[in-house]
Amino acid sequence: MRKVLVSTITEAEVRSALAGVKDPARNQDVVSLGMVQEIAIRDGNVAFALEADPARAKALEIVRRACEQVVLSLPGVASVSAVLTAERPPQAPPGPAANARAISLPGVQSIIAVASGKGGVGKSTVTSNLALALSRQGLRVGILDADIYGPSQPRLMGIAGRPQSIDGKRIRPMAGYGIKVMSIGFMVDEERPMIWRGPMVQGALEQLLRDVEWGELDVLLVDMPPGTGDVQLTMSQRVPLRGAVIVSTPQDIALIDARKGLNMFRRVDVPVLGFIENMSWFACPKCGERTEIFAHGGAEQAAAAMQVPFLGGIPLHLSIRETSDQGLPVVATLPESAEAQAFVAVAARLGAELKRTETAPMPEISFE
Ligand code: ADP
Repeated sequence: MRKVLVSTITEAEVRSALAGVKDPARNQDVVSLGMVQEIAIRDGNVAFALEADPARAKALEIVRRACEQVVLSLPGVASVSAVLTAERPPQAPPGPAANARAISLPGVQSIIAVASGKGGVGKSTVTSNLALALSRQGLRVGILDADIYGPSQPRLMGIAGRPQSIDGKRIRPMAGYGIKVMSIGFMVDEERPMIWRGPMVQGALEQLLRDVEWGELDVLLVDMPPGTGDVQLTMSQRVPLRGAVIVSTPQDIALIDARKGLNMFRRVDVPVLGFIENMSWFACPKCGERTEIFAHGGAEQAAAAMQVPFLGGIPLHLSIRETSDQGLPVVATLPESAEAQAFVAVAARLGAELKRTETAPMPEISFE
C-alpha cells in the first residue's frame, strides 16, 4: 500500500490510530491488548508488528489488514507494512527440537538457501542467474528474496509492480523470465529499505513463505541476507531446507566468512551442497583474456579442506554487472556468452549434487 508523499508522522499518531482497531474475538483494541510492537518509521514509511497467538494467525489477518488501512489513511503516511509475529520462542538448542512450528511448502520439492558470509560477494547476482540456469535444465524454479534488509531480486530480475492477492489471503508471486519471484522489495521502496527489528523479521519472513502461492516448484532458491543472523537461523530452523550453497569471492577474508556460514548450517543440520566462487577471475570484456586477479582457486581448496563440493567459479565480468543492474540477467539475455555458461556449469553441478543426495533422508521436521 503506497501513496507518494513524505512527512513527519510520529509513533504516537500511529498508536492512536491503531487504538481504533479491535480484535473482534476479544472485543478490545489492539493497543490495549498490547499487540502492537516495534513501530518503525522512516520518511513516512511505517512498519510494525502485531503480536499474535500463532493458532489465531488466520483469523487475525483481517485485523492486520485493518491496522494497515487505518495507518495508511493518516496524513503523511507513504506506505505501511504490518506483520503478524509470534512471541519469540525461547532459544532452542540447534537440532530437531528447534524445528518446532516448522513452515512447510507442500508444492515445493527442494528449498535451497543461497548464503554468503558477508555482503557484496555477488550472492544475489548468483541467485538470479543460477535460478535461470536451473530453469534451462527444465526445472520449475522460484526465488524467495529473504534479504529483507537489502532486497535486490526485483531489480535483478527486472520486475516492477506489486504482487496481487488471489483471494485476499494468499499472494501470487511475481514472475520474470519464467521464474516466480517473491520479495519484500515489491512492498517497500528499494531506495528506502525498512528498518527491521526483532520479531518483525520472523513475521515478515513467515508471510513471504507461507502466504505466497508458489504452486508446484522443483526448486525454490532463497536469497539469504549476508552473514549469520536472525534470518538465517529462522530459515534454517523453521524451513525444511534441502541444503545451502555458499557464495564466496576468492579473497581470504571472504573465505573465512564463508567458513562461518558453513559452520552455522552444519550446526543446524542443513547440508551444505557446495561452494561457488564468484569473481573467480577477471574476464576482459574486450578480448576475453582471463586474468587471475585474486589468488584464484581459494574457494576450491577451502571446499576440499572442509569436505564440501565445489560447484564452480564465475568470472568477474563487466557484462554480469551491467546486465544485473539493468534487470537483464546474463543467463537469460546472453545465454551463449562464456559468463552465462559459467552459471550453466554451476547449475549442472548443483543439479547433480541434488540427485546424488536425493536418497539422503529429508531433514526431520516435527510439528507442535
Ligand atoms: P550480494 O548479494 O552478495 O550483496 P550482489 O549480487 O548485490 O552481492 O553484487 C554486488 C555487486 O557486484 C553488484 O553491483 C553486482 O552487479 C556485482 N557483481 C556480482 N557478481 C559479479 C560478477 N561475477 N562480475 C561482475 N560484477 C559482479
